[in-house]
Amino acid sequence: MKSTGYCHACRKEVAENPRVCPRCGAPNPTLGYNVTKPIAVAVSAIVLLSIVADVLHSRKPRYVAGQTYPIAKTGLVCLTLKGLAKTTEGGGVTPDQAAQMGCLRLAPEEHPQVRVLAKDETAVKVLVLAPNLKVDNFQGWTAADNLDPQPVAAH
Ligand SMILES: [Zn+2]
Repeated sequence: MKSTGYCHACRKEVAENPRVCPRCGAPNPTLGYNVTKPIAVAVSAIVLLSIVADVLHSRKPRYVAGQTYPIAKTGLVCLTLKGLAKTTEGGGVTPDQAAQMGCLRLAPEEHPQVRVLAKDETAVKVLVLAPNLKVDNFQGWTAADNLDPQPVAAH
């Protein structure tokens, strides 16, 4: 059975659940959005904005590259630091805008973990470790405060 979906960034028909859109390069182009998600993303963008503001004013990331941390707060992971910064400008973005900026949402209730690859003043570059989710293996920047400060113990 042919299984296809529509890229929410460029609206073209693509195979269902590719990692990136073969036409425009958007990550997870057929990742479903229902009616509640735009609200959730808007709320998380506001939360992210306050987190970034909080980090800017008070705290420095304490994360160590190579360590794995659980996600503690809902937030966006973006392909570029610029993309992440854009999502926090002007009071947040829609899911389509976030996708066009190369951003994906990580929610703590889905229990993703991330391995820190690099960091700067307010954000960390992470590799998403979520074998049961479409975001698995996604690499991008997220606000440092989205991570639980306690690393996952090595097994
Ligand atoms: Zn596309």
